[in-house]
Amino acid sequence: MVITEIFKSIQGEGTRAGLPCIFVRLTGCNLRCVWCDTEYAFHGGTKFTLDEVLQKVDALAGSGDGRIPLVEITGGEPLLQPETPALAERLLAAGYTVMIETSGERFIGVLPREVIKIVDVKCPDSGEGETFDLANLDTLGPNDEIKFVIASRRDYDFARDFTARYALASRVRQVLFSPVFADPAGRWPGLSARELAEWILADGLSVRLGLQLHKFIWDPAMKGV
Ligand code: SF4
Repeated sequence: MVITEIFKSIQGEGTRAGLPCIFVRLTGCNLRCVWCDTEYAFHGGTKFTLDEVLQKVDALAGSGDGRIPLVEITGGEPLLQPETPALAERLLAAGYTVMIETSGERFIGVLPREVIKIVDVKCPDSGEGETFDLANLDTLGPNDEIKFVIASRRDYDFARDFTARYALASRVRQVLFSPVFADPAGRWPGLSARELAEWILADGLSVRLGLQLHKFIWDPAMKGV
C-alpha cells in the first residue's frame, strides 16, 4: 500500500468526535474538491506491506487498559488502493473498531460489513458534484454515517433535498452537515457554522452539525493531527 502518514490523534468528526484514534492516511485521490485540506496526500507516499501497517498501528495504539481501540482509514481516497479491504479485515481481526472515510465516488460494498463507513456526498460547490455512486445507498447500514461538506446556501439546499429524497436518516446512524473550514492560506472562504446551524434549525432537520474538532484544538494547517 502507499501511505502518506500513520498517526495518533483525536477523532475530529462524526459521532465519535473527541475519541482518541489512530489514522492511516492512504496516498492518492481521483477527485479535486476545491476546498480539499489534504492535498499533500495526492502524491508521493511510502510503500508499506499490510504487516508493516499493522505493526505501526499497534505501536501507536499501545497495550493494556490504555490501548486505543479505534482506527480510521482515510486519504486521499482510500478505496483507490486494492489492498484496502484486506487492510480493514486485518485491523478488524486484530480487535480494532475500524472506520473508513471515503468520497462516495467509489463502491463501498467491497469493504467488510463491520467497517464503519463515513461516506461523503459531494455538493455542487466542491467542484465534484454528481460523483456519488448511488449504488452505495443500498450498502449503507445502521452504523454508517453520511457527510455533506457545505460551502454555500446552494450546497445546503442540495444536501437537504438529497437527504429527504433518499430517506438518508432511515439508512444510516447519522447524517452530518459540516461547514467548509476557511483555508488558512486564504485560497477559499469558509462557511460560518452559525449560519449553517441557523439554516438547519429553521428547516427543522434532524441532522448533526459537524465541526472539525482537530482544527479548533491545533493549528488548522497542521498535518498529522
Ligand atoms: S475526495 Fe477528499 S481527498 Fe479527494 S479531493 Fe476531495 S476532499 Fe480531497
